[in-house]
Amino acid sequence: MTQLIYHLADLTALRDRDGLDTALVATLQELLRPTSIGIYRLVGPLSNEHWLTCAQISNGVTQQQARQAWAELDELPHADEFVNRQRAISTRQSVTTADPATSVFPLATDSASSGVLELSSATPLSTETYRLVCAVLRLYQNFQSLLDYGERDALTELLNRKTFDGAFLKATTAQHETPEPGTNDRRQCNPGGSYWLAMLDIDHFKRVNDNFGHLIGDEVLLLLARLMRNTFRFHDQLYRFGGEEFVVLMHCTLAGQAESSLERLRRNTEQHAFPQVGQISVSIGFTEIRQGDSPSSAFERADKAVYYAKEHGRNQVWGHEALVAQGKLAAEAVNVGDIELF
Ligand code: GH3
Ligand code: MG
Ligand code: MG
Repeated sequence: MTQLIYHLADLTALRDRDGLDTALVATLQELLRPTSIGIYRLVGPLSNEHWLTCAQISNGVTQQQARQAWAELDELPHADEFVNRQRAISTRQSVTTADPATSVFPLATDSASSGVLELSSATPLSTETYRLVCAVLRLYQNFQSLLDYGERDALTELLNRKTFDGAFLKATTAQHETPEPGTNDRRQCNPGGSYWLAMLDIDHFKRVNDNFGHLIGDEVLLLLARLMRNTFRFHDQLYRFGGEEFVVLMHCTLAGQAESSLERLRRNTEQHAFPQVGQISVSIGFTEIRQGDSPSSAFERADKAVYYAKEHGRNQVWGHEALVAQGKLAAEAVNVGDIELF
């Protein structure tokens, strides 16, 4: 009992969602010694969902999750491959099978995705153990909701700016991490490719509020957030930074991928019929995240590109690097080693 309380105290001291999943799995592993235990979440568009492994211990060995976090959707197992997981999510009840002895517990859906905890053991769980798992999961989920409350925008349920600096740091660190000695698999710690920061600003949004009222304006923000979710890939991180300004932190393995995703969002927005309002458009600026970048310098570059789009007709996507290469913007001075104080 004391051991359990210590574990739970450690768990609730965490503020990082990935860390929380890993800690939950490790806690249950230590308490129950199952043959395998994992947290799996559905990612991707509703019509083509796949299972992302968020934390997993199999035969006592912790599986490397960094690899999956950057996987392409089609590299992950398709939703249909695990019917018991699907059933647990759709019925919101645990599903137990006898051979092999596996229990799948639904995790209450947060705003972003649905998931399960799957636990296999040599023998079926006793009633007492089953209750223990349910109780630990309730605590875990309450804690997740608290994190959501602090880190998500109440209107759109996108991330708010609070977690951005941490995510930016993780991205820049991952981008420049070297492979561990003895491995030649870059993706183990470094997914390859590069990270991009994009800023989006709705064009003439004040007019929407002035003409249709604040409530309809809010609905536009909500629908735009949905368009964003449908446009970007599951590992891209979407933020509402306040007002009618949104931010995307993207990881792309192919040249041109960032621009083509952003262009797709611009087009999808322009073509979407917003109730009552009709058409709206967005201006988008983006930049590649560099070694030694700080959030503020990357924002400054993306912001200049948004400003350029606004000044040159709106409803456009511009990359800061392309604007500099074309002589449309001056390159900013690079002050390597500068320390920025906030
Ligand atoms: P531009 O094309 O230059 O971006 O023009 P704009 O009208 O979008 O820009 P401006 O920054 O002048 O206006 C932003 C407006 O966004 C002002 C405010 O009424 C509206 N706004 C900010 N936050 C919210 C919100 O939470 N809900 C609603 N409905 N409107 C908001
Ligand atoms: Mg604005
Ligand atoms: Mg605007």
